[in-house]
Amino acid sequence: MKKRKAAMVILGMGILLLLFLLFRTAGIAATGSQRLLSLFSQGEEETEEAEKPKIAITFDDGPHPYYTEDLLDGLKERGVVASFFVTGKHAALHPDVIRRMSEEGHLIGNHTYSHIQLQPGNREKFREELVKTNAVIQEITGKEVIYVRPPYGTWDKELESELNMIPVLWNVDPMDWCSDNVSCIVKKVVGKAKENAIILMHDYSESSITAALKVIDELLEEGYLFVTVEEILFE
Ligand SMILES: [Zn+2]
Repeated sequence: MKKRKAAMVILGMGILLLLFLLFRTAGIAATGSQRLLSLFSQGEEETEEAEKPKIAITFDDGPHPYYTEDLLDGLKERGVVASFFVTGKHAALHPDVIRRMSEEGHLIGNHTYSHIQLQPGNREKFREELVKTNAVIQEITGKEVIYVRPPYGTWDKELESELNMIPVLWNVDPMDWCSDNVSCIVKKVVGKAKENAIILMHDYSESSITAALKVIDELLEEGYLFVTVEEILFE
């Protein structure tokens, strides 16, 4: 009688062990296939991204202590990268904002130190301002500055080899700095947006920031992929 009881107990334990192993294997198989599935859909997403038309949004004259931070929050929420052409003067005043831009994957370019326009007779001063601004930005981010947006678009081609810098102009300009009519700014940009366009805006007023985020939402809706100017120029 005792022997029979012991055999029953062993049998019961055996069944329990078998069940345990069975569930475990099923569990592993399920996670494995989930992992495979997610790898597959990740690959699919990457292909989809590569097929989207690219566009770049750029912001000049900052950083501004409040508006640029708000803009960076909005860009982060949307997973969008932008290019910022900052003046050395503003960068030196708000290094934390510059550091944040760099850490969040945005491109930082040079917009001279004091927003000086290149004119006959001030080439040396203009050149000095570019060098000084590069030093300010590099000191904060640790990264070399390659791109320059000359204020008002006035440029001297020889500076490119002299300073080893690349000028970045634009092809969509809503003149956001002279209007606070948000919907008017948005309409101007969205109407002219096309593949590989470079949009010029400013992160120096509330209406510009509000308009920029609306522009981004509309263009994301249209299927655009936001990239830095570097990707537009070299890919
Ligand atoms: Zn400017």
